[in-house]
Amino acid sequence: MNASTAGSGGQIVVAGAGYAGLHVALRLTAKLRNHPEVELTLVDRHDYHQVVTELPRVASGTRAADAVRIPLQEMLATRVRFVQTEINGFDLAGRRLLTGAGPIGWRRLVLALGSRPNDFAIPGLAERALSVYSASDAEQVWAAVSKALDDAAAAADPVRQRRLATVIVGGGGATGVELAGELAEILPEMARSRSLAPDRPAVQLIEAGPAILAGSSPQLTGKAASILSDLGVQVRTNAAIAAATEEGFRLTDGQLVEGGVFVWAGGVKAPELVADSGLPAGHNGRVKVDQYLRVLDHPDIYVAGDLASVTDPRTGHVLPPLAQVALEEGETVARNLAAELQGKPLEAFTFHDKGFVVSVGTRRGVADIAGLTTSGRLAHLLKDAIEWEYRQSVTHLRGWDPVAR
Ligand SMILES: Cc1cc2nc3c(=O)[nH]c(=O)nc-3n(C[C@H](O)[C@H](O)[C@H](O)COP(=O)(O)OP(=O)(O)OC[C@H]3O[C@@H](n4cnc5c(N)ncnc54)[C@H](O)[C@@H]3O)c2cc1C
Repeated sequence: MNASTAGSGGQIVVAGAGYAGLHVALRLTAKLRNHPEVELTLVDRHDYHQVVTELPRVASGTRAADAVRIPLQEMLATRVRFVQTEINGFDLAGRRLLTGAGPIGWRRLVLALGSRPNDFAIPGLAERALSVYSASDAEQVWAAVSKALDDAAAAADPVRQRRLATVIVGGGGATGVELAGELAEILPEMARSRSLAPDRPAVQLIEAGPAILAGSSPQLTGKAASILSDLGVQVRTNAAIAAATEEGFRLTDGQLVEGGVFVWAGGVKAPELVADSGLPAGHNGRVKVDQYLRVLDHPDIYVAGDLASVTDPRTGHVLPPLAQVALEEGETVARNLAAELQGKPLEAFTFHDKGFVVSVGTRRGVADIAGLTTSGRLAHLLKDAIEWEYRQSVTHLRGWDPVAR
């Protein structure tokens, strides 16, 4: 679709159809019922929404990539104009998004472009390690793991077999833990199907800090470490990667960590496009916002999701890049856009933490909810339930507004 017709005075443009942007579009649709003059446009490079929290399952072959891509047309009401195109830049003064489909003018812009893997300028990492930030990335990890196991099965030397069939995951946050756990559970089965000894494959999780799942309670960390150990994952903490070479990850203490597949899950940063935009940047290039989630000195631009740098007044720390945070921010942005239309005061954003759940392997998990730490099957079921509930909500939110009822 050519976007050049866009840009009328009543244009609200949402850039990014991820957790935050899709939520804004869905919630705003109903709120615009009495405002036919307002055009609502959603822009994304893909014509589907990605259920990013399920990517570790795609990377370990337990879920198909297409199962985590939900077509946007199934979720959006006709009220939302969807433009599938790449966003290449911003004309802040002219209030226009610069896209492959032409400029798209805004009266209000919601920036919800998510984040990119942060390689922290570690030499070789971007070129040599895979990542898991999209369904395609996750598919590539699965393809690389499958090929590594094929190569290991074709090799005669057991040492070489072990090296080829070892997956090294860099970064012991939730993504790294989930990926390592899923793979550890699935690899022996893959080996068996290739007549390779089931103990030949291995998974190593490399974490620079003193513990995995940094920021979580020691109880949660301990329980996750115990499940990983039970699954045979070798967890190495205080192990910072200095470089990624053809041989493997070189640690700062000089050790070489060898393997057949290398995946980086060590952190995220704002997309370069935003970092170069002139918008005020905070930690890792995330955009600084006021209490209403508007960019500082740009009241016409809201930011939600991973891209927003929002400090939690209770902890003094910037909120982590989580789907849960993105959805809550999306909710506040939708309410504030509606409030502006109705001439009502804006609502300050407050994060209501619902807890932290991480799956570890295909059957177990760990969870910190309302001050209680749990682990095992229940925590895994909880994670499944959260993802199921999310899928239900995006397909049913279409035009639904509890406040308007
Ligand atoms: C593997 C993995 C597992 C995770 N698991 C959990 C979990 O269990 N629980 C949890 O709370 N959080 C989890 N997270 C974090 C969570 O996925 C993110 O916090 C969430 O996706 C952020 O939502 P967002 O809307 O800011 O960005 P995204 O969901 O990433 O959406 C950004 C959108 O912008 C689009 N876009 C970006 N740039 C452009 C461009 N230039 N042009 C056009 N379109 C563009 C993208 O296509 C995408 O649709 C996980 C993250 C990963 C990577």
